[in-house]
Amino acid sequence: MRAGERELTDKLAAGVRLNFSEACRLWDLDLLELGSWADRVRWRLNPEPRVTFVIDRNINYTNVCTSGCRFCAFYRLPGAADGYVLDWELLAAKLTELKEYGGSGVLLQGGLNPELSLSYYLELVSFIKNSGLSLHGFSPPEISFLAQKSGLSLTDLVQRLMDAGLSSIPGGGAEILVDRVRRQISPNKCLTDQWLEVMRTAHRQGLRASATMMFGHIETREERVEHLFRIRELQDETGGFTAFIPWTYQPGGTELKGEAKGAVEYLKTLAISRLVLDNVPHLQVSWVTQGPKVAQVALKFGADDFGSTMLEENVVAATGVGFRLSRQEIEKLIRTSGYQAQLRDHRYQMLPG
Ligand code: SF4
Repeated sequence: MRAGERELTDKLAAGVRLNFSEACRLWDLDLLELGSWADRVRWRLNPEPRVTFVIDRNINYTNVCTSGCRFCAFYRLPGAADGYVLDWELLAAKLTELKEYGGSGVLLQGGLNPELSLSYYLELVSFIKNSGLSLHGFSPPEISFLAQKSGLSLTDLVQRLMDAGLSSIPGGGAEILVDRVRRQISPNKCLTDQWLEVMRTAHRQGLRASATMMFGHIETREERVEHLFRIRELQDETGGFTAFIPWTYQPGGTELKGEAKGAVEYLKTLAISRLVLDNVPHLQVSWVTQGPKVAQVALKFGADDFGSTMLEENVVAATGVGFRLSRQEIEKLIRTSGYQAQLRDHRYQMLPG
């Protein structure tokens, strides 16, 4: 055992919160050892032998975006021939199909489209709310962009969206919450403090949110830990995050290019996320980037949530990664991993069925 490792594992055994330098030393631990420490935290925070999932679809209301993130294969610049804004008839058909499939809510995200007004967004939210589905929508960069464009304060904008029917926020657009990284991969998108400020405002007004981390591109492992600490600090302040979802950058079709990280790096990052984020209740697997088998292994590395059926997913699919799972397949993967499959909604309320 290396110097300092005993001290670190003693802290893990005692369930004591890790500081930044201790968290950075977690990378030195053996893969399976890390997994077993993370699994202990999973059972401490979620003592039931169940793994949750949600039935939803990811609807992208527009792919037109001025941000030009170098890791994104989904967006089109304004004026592009294949740029779109979803029409109401197609949206209605998507909602009907989701309801027929037993879905409880919609995950709604889109590009930073300068042609869409505040009234469009409010109409969109009401339209989905009136369908009877809950709305988990608009990542912090979208909210920040709309606030700037409409001239509303974040507080007023979030309230308007809530009044129209928004019920929770997806933690997208976080990538890595370190400005050195953000300036290189998404120079036109909100910086770290602004991302956190949107979440702080939303949490204070009663919205719950997930948080994500897209890793495995230009960031260092220490910067991943820094990201986790920024989430942990805000969670100490507000308690508004329901879940954390780390996923690996997919280079296909992007300007940034590079190699996708494999299962070992994914599982280590997942386990370290569980160990650092001792105040975020749930940790979600990313079967859409890692595939179903690695997702099952991830349930032994701290995760307790299998994400969603994703009846529709366009953003990762644009990189050429095409894993798809039905509700029945998700339930079977959970069961054969040794857990009960439990349906939930976007706010992590348990649902019957
Ligand atoms: S990740 Fe989002 S903000 Fe960035 S280019 Fe793609 S659609 Fe636009």
